[in-house]
Amino acid sequence: MGKISLPETASGYYEIRLESIGGLGANLCGKMLGELGIKYLDLNSTSFSSYGSEKTGTPVKGFIRYCKKEKEIRIHSPIIKPDLLVVFHQALLKDGSAWTGCHENTEVIIALDGGQGNFEGKIPVKVKNCYVVNAQKIAMETHSRINVVMLGAIAKVMGFTDLEDVNKICADTLGKKYPDALKGNLEGIRRGYEEVRSLSVESNVAEGKTNGEEQPDKRSSSSEWGYATAPIGGINPRFGSTVTADLSPSRQGYIPIFIKERCINCGMCDSTCPDMVFQFAMGEYKGREMMVNKGLDYYHCKGCLRCVDVCPVNALVQGLEAEHPDKEYFLPNQEMVRMPDYYIKTGSDGYVTSESYLTEKRMEGGEV
Ligand code: SF4
Ligand code: SF4
Repeated sequence: MGKISLPETASGYYEIRLESIGGLGANLCGKMLGELGIKYLDLNSTSFSSYGSEKTGTPVKGFIRYCKKEKEIRIHSPIIKPDLLVVFHQALLKDGSAWTGCHENTEVIIALDGGQGNFEGKIPVKVKNCYVVNAQKIAMETHSRINVVMLGAIAKVMGFTDLEDVNKICADTLGKKYPDALKGNLEGIRRGYEEVRSLSVESNVAEGKTNGEEQPDKRSSSSEWGYATAPIGGINPRFGSTVTADLSPSRQGYIPIFIKERCINCGMCDSTCPDMVFQFAMGEYKGREMMVNKGLDYYHCKGCLRCVDVCPVNALVQGLEAEHPDKEYFLPNQEMVRMPDYYIKTGSDGYVTSESYLTEKRMEGGEV
């Protein structure tokens, strides 16, 4: 049983918001946190998630509320002003909306991408403390998943539970479902707990920004279509929506690396890739004019690595994205991209629908 008391907050609730993308396990992490409160911390708690289609790469938010046992939880709305904000993937911080509602008493935990040792972004709002944990690397090394590493980090930062209780909730939940994976998951929790570390908040606050001048809500300021301007019938008039979608936030640390010298231009990768990543065009191979593989449009690659599996000559290999900031054969789709701003974010921060919000010009210098 946790013996440390819940921090006092103005609302009487301790509120946690998880910002994540489908596939990282935030939903389950939220459920475990909710059960942890009731079963082992002697608190009242609720937990629910919000997500769209249950698909890797779509935005997921988790909401957990704790309060003392004497108090009833009467509100069941999403958490707007979190006491603890947990960001499961750095890509979520690209447009600022993940910071919504943070205040001077908010603590923030950010999962670093695989291979990355430092947080290189800036914190655009004043928060109490900011922590980072190399969640992806730990998950890979322990054969666990990002959600359990984050669970360990959350337990440490919350400060009112101990590792033993978190291990128990993991054993109750994951241990029953996947007993063979329990050892790795407990190790992931332990390392998340021990390796989460504090950032110097002051040095990372973007110059001139305070909470009094928070970023405008992009959902309203940059929405292209509202009730007055949406196409008649609410149809999506854009051709093949994956062609204009930026799927890079869906990746979980891995990308296919193209080794052109090995390629025999068999086209297997192109037939296999679900997202039209490969760019074939007329060229020369062994003195013959034919369609050759010119490169990959990484805007569309969601990192499933099916192409790596099918390539018969290892011309595509798995690589850590963090180790390849400059992708040698990155070639945006030459046929379909007529205007740079056709690209639309539909990954982690596509927010409500992929088409309505957050159009971003990413072709010219945009980070992918
Ligand atoms: S599957 Fe491999 S060898 Fe075949 S075209 Fe693709 S990269 Fe080249
Ligand atoms: S990993 Fe390969 S198959 Fe999967 S989306 Fe990227 S290019 Fe296509």
